[in-house]
Amino acid sequence: MSATRRVSEEEYLHCIRCGQCLPVCPTYRVTLNETDSPRARVALMRAVREGLLERPTDRTAAQFFRCLLCGACTFTCPSGVTVDRVLELTRGEMTDLGLLPQPLVALNQRIAESHNISAEPPESRLLWTQNLPTPPTGLGKTQAEVVYFVGCVGALFPRSYGIPQSFAQVLEGAGVEYALLGAEEWCCGYPLAINGDLETARDVMRHNLEAVRATGARTLVTTCPSCFHFWKHTYPAALGEELGFEVRHATEFLADLLEAGRVPLGENLPEQVVTYHDPCDLGRKGGIFDAPRRVLRAIPGIRLVEMPENQGGSHCCGGGGNLESMDPALSQAVAARRIRQAAETGAQVVVSACQQCERTLFNAARTERLRLRVKDIAEIVLEAMK
Ligand code: SF4
Ligand code: SF4
Repeated sequence: MSATRRVSEEEYLHCIRCGQCLPVCPTYRVTLNETDSPRARVALMRAVREGLLERPTDRTAAQFFRCLLCGACTFTCPSGVTVDRVLELTRGEMTDLGLLPQPLVALNQRIAESHNISAEPPESRLLWTQNLPTPPTGLGKTQAEVVYFVGCVGALFPRSYGIPQSFAQVLEGAGVEYALLGAEEWCCGYPLAINGDLETARDVMRHNLEAVRATGARTLVTTCPSCFHFWKHTYPAALGEELGFEVRHATEFLADLLEAGRVPLGENLPEQVVTYHDPCDLGRKGGIFDAPRRVLRAIPGIRLVEMPENQGGSHCCGGGGNLESMDPALSQAVAARRIRQAAETGAQVVVSACQQCERTLFNAARTERLRLRVKDIAEIVLEAMK
């Protein structure tokens, strides 16, 4: 199931074992254990491919799944190895050998049976629409120019409800007519694909594609960078057809609305220093760095400062690659490193454009006892509206 980049089956042979990927790998930086490094993962994959291991074991497989698929290694590699993509393919091979770690088997089962990551009934996808001043106008709409695809975390984790609630209100304030798929929205399929269950991933992709097409939409917009990346790059390749509509991330959509003067901003935010965290799937893997910064610079009262590791060199939030299901402690340790980097800028607020980054960084700020607020970009735009 190809993503943005093509990877040759033998690409791992280009690894010259230079070690330049070690200091940028968030899991290696936490454990300082060579087995948690991209170089070791590539070497292990080569050993598997070349039959140097009699049979991969659970421990072998775990090395591939203790990875965030953040792409920092790929960004750095002087030999041009798309390490994260090679690792994604190897995960599929481990799954085919029956070596998918148990927490991830359970995640795949939940999605296969309930079509979402947390085994909720389909109608739970609309719980976030409650407790708003007025119900979202996209609710129950069957035809619209724009479909807002909410994603599992935003729709089902109460901690993240503020993101779809804010984005829907911003769309309405800007006069955008949109539809929500509600119970007909299923998991985008990304967690299945990176856990190696490509068959079920294709089933959910096919369902979602038909649900969006039925609305006649010309644009699909997501607040989740992983949904965005998967819809934009993997859906057409995996299903073997053009989608027939444009896929955009909320940051691109918001930047255009703001620049067209359609979002009525006030002067109601206090002066504040904000730093922006690039989500891996949006920035390094999706190439979208400017749109969120255009949004933040357009908001009166915000002074944007950058962390030293930003844009292509950004440090993962710890929430990628299904690592949270596989090894929550490692995921939290990665998040703690990133939130400390944000605090070192002197910012009062760290803004991201991803429900997973917002959640992991928020929890890390509390655990690290840092006086740093964590917000999604849709939330801060709504706060700035008149
Ligand atoms: S940076 Fe690239 S070539 Fe160097 S060790 Fe890492 S994967 Fe291998
Ligand atoms: S994708 Fe990220 S976590 Fe995985 S090996 Fe590369 S740098 Fe490390």
